[in-house]
Amino acid sequence: MAVKMEQMYEGKAKKVFATDDPGLCIVSYKDDATAFDGKKKGTIADKGEINNRVTNHLMKLLSEQGIPTHFVEELSARETLVKRVTIVPLEVIVRNIAAGSLSKRLGLPEGTKMGATVLEFCYKDDALGDPMVNEYHIAAMGWASAEELETIAAYAFKINEALSLYLKEVNIELIDFKLEFGRLSDGTLVLADEISPDTCRFWDSKTREKLDKDRFRRDMDDIEGAYREILKRLIGQ
Ligand code: 5GP
Repeated sequence: MAVKMEQMYEGKAKKVFATDDPGLCIVSYKDDATAFDGKKKGTIADKGEINNRVTNHLMKLLSEQGIPTHFVEELSARETLVKRVTIVPLEVIVRNIAAGSLSKRLGLPEGTKMGATVLEFCYKDDALGDPMVNEYHIAAMGWASAEELETIAAYAFKINEALSLYLKEVNIELIDFKLEFGRLSDGTLVLADEISPDTCRFWDSKTREKLDKDRFRRDMDDIEGAYREILKRLIGQ
């Protein structure tokens, strides 16, 4: 059993602790919520616990379907043991239906069906507002090799298929989501970070009600209720 040691990092939604095993870390999910690159701040009751449990549930599902992930073991309501990785500094965004920044950029009303799934990359840098980049920028800056990027794209599409199908069964439409990948010490790429209402757009399939962080971003009511509804539909609690 890994022993929790010093805090290595504190992000906007999570803290990461070292353990006595150099290959393992402990992630602790916070209730803090931020949006617009940290410009909007708040808290969402029980968000940390919900995102921890939802993420682990989905990571387990994906690893059963052949996607390597950083998940090792859920330690408590908010804490999870994960493999230590170096994060690839890219946000990998998959879009099934137009929404959010894509709707704004291309002038497409939210909810517009598109002819194919869209994959985007953004450079992870809050100060720069996570700018969108393409494979040429990624190669030029050395953020990932061409081979790694090919693997990341293949995983992203496979994750989209698996999650979309799974969520459909509980009447959730997966509009879009953001993934992050990391490298283990031997260079193996694994899915890292979280998959939760903070990082995905989840719409009720029938009513199209938003059940995700857009409720916080857009000052809508019952944010906690939406997060809890996702937990209930996925885990039944
Ligand atoms: P958009 O580019 O439309 O703002 O976001 C696309 C999808 O990626 C949404 O599901 C959104 O939640 C997620 N996403 C994009 N950037 C971030 C980010 O910096 N943090 C979080 N939590 N999610 C993001």
